[in-house]
Amino acid sequence: MNAERLEHFKSILQEQLLEHTTKVGVERAAALASDDDGVKDSVDLSLVDVNKEIAFRLTDRELQIVADIDQALLRIREGSYGICARCGKPIDERRLEAVPTARYDAACQAIIESANGDDDLPSL
Ligand SMILES: [Zn+2]
Repeated sequence: MNAERLEHFKSILQEQLLEHTTKVGVERAAALASDDDGVKDSVDLSLVDVNKEIAFRLTDRELQIVADIDQALLRIREGSYGICARCGKPIDERRLEAVPTARYDAACQAIIESANGDDDLPSL
């Protein structure tokens, strides 16, 4: 991949990173703020707990996305971005446009997903 294309994906990833880190911050702040509602009875308290749990679960998912973006930016720095981590072939740029954090090309992704989905079945 040439430097210009790398810069293109880098700016997409940095934009997404900013977007998701902002979201994580907002959700975490909202989750923590729900401690300070001044609610007294147990019914309200349990509702607060549920809301907090949902907020933290969302944050976990966002953190995973942030980690994926971080890894992709690291691969750009290391020069391994856009190369399939499984077979070493270049990943189709249309795939990277759709999923800039992709670590595998479409063929390997399909193999990995079917392997994960069919744990009980023999692979051959
Ligand atoms: Zn591959």
